[in-house]
Amino acid sequence: AEKLAMQTEKLALTGELSAGIVHEIKNPLTSVKGFLQLMEAGTIDTKDYINILKAEVERMEAMAVNMLSFAKPNNHFGQHNLKDIIQDVFSLMEIQANKNHIYLKKNEHSPDVFVHGDEAQLKQVLINLVKNAIEASEPNHNVEIQLCQDCINGYIKVTDYGAGIPNHQLKNIGKSFYTTKKEGTGLGLMVSYRIIEHHQGQIKVNSKSENGTTFTICLPKVREKESYQVLSDCKSGT
Ligand code: ADP
Ligand code: MG
Repeated sequence: AEKLAMQTEKLALTGELSAGIVHEIKNPLTSVKGFLQLMEAGTIDTKDYINILKAEVERMEAMAVNMLSFAKPNNHFGQHNLKDIIQDVFSLMEIQANKNHIYLKKNEHSPDVFVHGDEAQLKQVLINLVKNAIEASEPNHNVEIQLCQDCINGYIKVTDYGAGIPNHQLKNIGKSFYTTKKEGTGLGLMVSYRIIEHHQGQIKVNSKSENGTTFTICLPKVREKESYQVLSDCKSGT
């Protein structure tokens, strides 16, 4: 029953999202079409407008990717090591970071932390957070991915040393289509929050203006059969 409720909620959200996306895609589509017509008529110099067209098309592509990862009909839930998920995302995003002269770091001796979830969706969340961290960073700064745990949860922290999120903007974080970027979609965090909610987890943000930002993904660990003793030890210890 819980699963059905989740599916229903997801369907409703997918509908809401697609309505939003259709709305958001109309503007770039209209401008792409307009530029193409001007080019065809020979009234403008193609070279000058290629970059604008590319940016608009890339924005639409980013929306589609986010939408897809969320709307996939069947979840593939299984047991996954957060350490492996981080390693994969690290390899993928290191290239993008280096292009922007950002150093992507992760802790050398990560623990093994097993969670129950959809690997592709969890990766998508981490990619979204790392991408934002890179986009917020000035060249020659670090972006750090850290994995840690307590008795109950695993925690992935993504830290940047960028401009931070001003207090008055914190309340908008995670709302659909909220973006402060020229070519942003405002979908990355919204989709990420939803995915982590569906994994019974939470995303927390800690940001000081001028001092950078840390996003923390918190996910419940898979409980081993014989871990009851450990678990009760842990509870009394904290
Ligand atoms: P997008 O990246 O397309 O703008 P997101 O949903 O990923 O959409 O992010 C929404 C907004 O949240 C961003 O436009 C930015 O204003 C803010 N934000 C997210 N991550 C960070 C960060 N690490 N540092 C500063 N601002 C951030
Ligand atoms: Mg983003």
